[in-house]
Amino acid sequence: MELLQQKILNEGTVLSDHVLKVDAFLNHQIDPQLMVEVGKEFARRFQNDRITKVLTLESSGIAPAMMAALELGVPVIFARKRKSLTLVNDLLTASVYSFTKKETNEISVSQKFLEPTDNVLIIDDFLANGQAALGLASIVELAGAKTAGIGIVIEKSFQNGGKLLRNKGFKVESLARIQSLEGGKVTFGTEGQVPRPTIYSQNQETSVQEVGVGR
Ligand code: 5GP
Repeated sequence: MELLQQKILNEGTVLSDHVLKVDAFLNHQIDPQLMVEVGKEFARRFQNDRITKVLTLESSGIAPAMMAALELGVPVIFARKRKSLTLVNDLLTASVYSFTKKETNEISVSQKFLEPTDNVLIIDDFLANGQAALGLASIVELAGAKTAGIGIVIEKSFQNGGKLLRNKGFKVESLARIQSLEGGKVTFGTEGQVPRPTIYSQNQETSVQEVGVGR
């Protein structure tokens, strides 16, 4: 997604070889217009997956998840990280090791918002080692529902989360894929992306002719 890549290049800060700060448009201040476009792009990529609910993790997943849910015309649920006085009964919980905070958090969703018939789209701001997405997927499983896909705003493809989730059979769609943050520089990549199918058609004179289909 070109607009998102430009935003990362112009307003992101590389904190280390592994961490990108995007508090100017996603993690603290939020760019609503960018979130509208992010929501449209997620909706386009998951439009045929019969999504009934969007599930994310507070707090940075909420803005992109909300816009995706609005475009898909379904509710959005955010898993809570802290125990709440009003959220006590019938909780579905998972333990998630936080990449940025280096601690394990218990995340919870009230069972009443997830039905076994739900087809859930999981959305998160970043994908590093895949622990947040796996925790959310395990909550979906506890509800007896199905994870139809995982939508990520920024995937760091030099970390192993993308491979882990795709190897488990999840459909993972990332709107920006960062190949490296080395030397304080953001390098975008395409690896990990599902290759675009190339269709070859037989023609009388030449043996094969590339037709090609893209997204
Ligand atoms: P994972 O669970 O995939 O290891 O890490 C994803 C979670 O950690 C996201 O929910 C996000 O909040 C946080 N995270 C991982 N990498 C980064 C990063 O480079 N920058 C920021 N701002 N958050 C990150």
